[in-house]
Amino acid sequence: MQERKTRLETLRLELLERIRHYEAHQHRTSGALDKDLDDQALEVRNDEVIARLEDEARTELAQVERALARLDTGVGDHCEICGGLIAPERLEALPYTTRCMKCVKE
Ligand SMILES: [Zn+2]
Repeated sequence: MQERKTRLETLRLELLERIRHYEAHQHRTSGALDKDLDDQALEVRNDEVIARLEDEARTELAQVERALARLDTGVGDHCEICGGLIAPERLEALPYTTRCMKCVKE
């Protein structure tokens, strides 16, 4: 239990760091007007990839924070849909999950 919380907090810090990195990247490239067209096209594609990664990191961060909040209220090992216990090996593999295997599939 405590170990899972520690893993989630570590994951949370990693995600925050990644998001900061993506934001810095977007900020850095947004003023680049003095490049030739090939470079600009490459940069736009690159920006789209970074924006997608940033979106994914934010989604994952929200999920991690939800799992942490549920741990704090003492229901972290229970599925948010059916209320049943989430299998320990599932929590081990996906510490940020808030649903049991059965409810994820539905
Ligand atoms: Zn369930």
